[in-house]
Amino acid sequence: MLFPQRVFCGQLNQNDVGKRLLLAGWVDAYRDHGGLLFIHLRDRSGIMQIVFSPEIAPADVCQRAASLRAEYCIAVRGEVKKRLEGTENPNIETGNIDVMVTALIVLAESDALPFAISEKAMVAGAASAGADSVAEDLRLEYRYLDLRRPSMRDNLVSRHRIFQCVREFLDSKGFVEIETPVLTMSTPEGARDYLVPSRVHPQNFYALPQSPQLFKQLLMIGGIERYFQLARCFRDEDLRPNRQPEFTQLDLEASFIDEEFLYNLVEELTVRMFAVGGITLTRPFPRITYAEAMDTTGSDRPDLRFGLRFIDVTDVFSNTNYSIFRQILQRGGCIKGINIKGQSEKLSKNVLQNEYAKEIVPSFGAKGMTWMRAENGKLESNIVQFFSSQELEELRKRFGVADGDVLIMIADPSYAVVTSALGQLRLHLANRLGLIPADTFCPVWVTEFPLFEATEEGGITSSHHPFTAPDRTDFDPKNIEELLTLRSRAYDLVMNGEELGGGSIRISDRELQRKIFTALGLSEEETKEKFGFFLRAFDFGAPPHGGLALGMDRTVSMILQTPSIREVIAFPKNRSAACPLTGAPSTVKREQLAELGLLNLGGQDVLPGTAEKKDRIDRVSWVSRIGIAAEERAVMQETLKQSDELASLAAGKAGNEEPAYSVAPVANRTRPGGAAKRSPLSETGQLLRSTPYTKGNYYKVTNILE
Ligand code: ASP
Repeated sequence: MLFPQRVFCGQLNQNDVGKRLLLAGWVDAYRDHGGLLFIHLRDRSGIMQIVFSPEIAPADVCQRAASLRAEYCIAVRGEVKKRLEGTENPNIETGNIDVMVTALIVLAESDALPFAISEKAMVAGAASAGADSVAEDLRLEYRYLDLRRPSMRDNLVSRHRIFQCVREFLDSKGFVEIETPVLTMSTPEGARDYLVPSRVHPQNFYALPQSPQLFKQLLMIGGIERYFQLARCFRDEDLRPNRQPEFTQLDLEASFIDEEFLYNLVEELTVRMFAVGGITLTRPFPRITYAEAMDTTGSDRPDLRFGLRFIDVTDVFSNTNYSIFRQILQRGGCIKGINIKGQSEKLSKNVLQNEYAKEIVPSFGAKGMTWMRAENGKLESNIVQFFSSQELEELRKRFGVADGDVLIMIADPSYAVVTSALGQLRLHLANRLGLIPADTFCPVWVTEFPLFEATEEGGITSSHHPFTAPDRTDFDPKNIEELLTLRSRAYDLVMNGEELGGGSIRISDRELQRKIFTALGLSEEETKEKFGFFLRAFDFGAPPHGGLALGMDRTVSMILQTPSIREVIAFPKNRSAACPLTGAPSTVKREQLAELGLLNLGGQDVLPGTAEKKDRIDRVSWVSRIGIAAEERAVMQETLKQSDELASLAAGKAGNEEPAYSVAPVANRTRPGGAAKRSPLSETGQLLRSTPYTKGNYYKVTNILE
């Protein structure tokens, strides 16, 4: 057997000069210098330049080498040689040595590649390629090739290192790694369940876990005291750019502890994980209450890398003559603003009035905004004449105004509208004005969340989940107004405006847990049906306990600073929750459904989603993978009607029209019949030539998903 002698490319260095050895890997790149053939051989450890020289290698070896192409899998024997001065390649770590080949085995050939894999230029100073220009779905369809790229491999290795760091650290603190079931009952985390039909129990379903919440609490009742798991969780949620239907979370739970124990533990762990990526975080992490976060940043995931905190100026205008403010305040409203320090040059009157006041702020849900620019010791704006000098003076004080500053205020009868619009504006301005420093990481604990949120139907729902302990226990479970004033013992760990995870101290008292279910409007029967087994466990001496879960895909992505979480997952779903590699999700055969006892479900023969939808709106929604909400159906109905009219018009005029050009791949699996065409113009960019906006060499098109 050949391979036991194999050494890794990336481990060789000058000390190996003169050694004869065996290397194996893939042809990363090649260069033919008239008979002298240079190849970058890549394995999982790095790249080594191997050289086929007619003076060293036998003629048949050189001949076979001439037919090598990118990504052929080969093994070679040869001798390590120091490179001549001036021919070193700093692009690769082994750039000062070569291996002069004497024997070659082609282990497997490769077809022409769908995209370039090589990331390392063969010559010093030459530009190296990246995957930035390759369509993501193509990368995902050929993920095994994409993973050969060193940057992707490095991401997965770093992910592994971070996971190892988690395991070692938690082990050192007495936590035990335990697996909980994947085929299970529904766990309430606010999303829809993925269901798995049971063949043995026809028409019964398992739910894939949205989290191991119930099991980890049962482990505490089971006396394990400290548990963790790098758990795969599943949530059927609407599509969002940085979400995956299945994801990995670090789930942990401990007994006989309080919030401080968890803050300490998780801070120490987070510091260690970020250190794997060379990032230093300082402890203790700051803490902010939910109320303060909303009050000053308009978000429960505050991005603290920059200022632009809100300042409340409601009281400044309590006797104002400015009628818009007066009316808003009479309706119980509030006024908040931000001072964008020293930015008046970039925020001209025109930008403030025509872009922000007319377009941007209304798109954030507020009716309008008020702006003022500080110039020559005065506040200037289109409405400054409506304010008294006292009001203007007070504004200057509150906002600490200096010349060159710009104030923006939003007033509305609704606190939620003010904070939400100003919060979005805060982020918009920070991005536009480049106020977010690079390579800065600002962790923060958000605490004291409301225990419940109001639902549109006039009821309440848990903000976190129903097992979270409230701040007090003497509430009336039927009094919704009172319930909405309760705070929870929950906490979120937020970094740079993203939630990395969260958890809570749990309810360990059975009566209190029952009271919470009552507050949530569950009847005794419903509670028993859904959580009977869980509540029963609390009848046997449940210890006080609490825990948390961190989204590991998101955490790793932040540590490695990748543009999306898909870059740190080996085989992710795309933005439409589909897998371009395997084609999942896919329809199943009727036989399979029959075997699972699903064909007669609900008296229906054909299940929704398993065959063509009868209802056209459902079908459009399914084909386009866009959920259509009940209130959107009327508009969709109208749109379909119009497109029918258009289609019949076109058919009447031109009968056998050519199919329209499409930039989608030719193999369009979502629509039967009719060969789609790919326009040659899509390759050259000409297809977008009539787009109204360009910026540099790019066409600006509507931002749909990300
Ligand atoms: N189960 C929660 C979640 O997945 C985390 C926790 O409360 O520990 O968000």
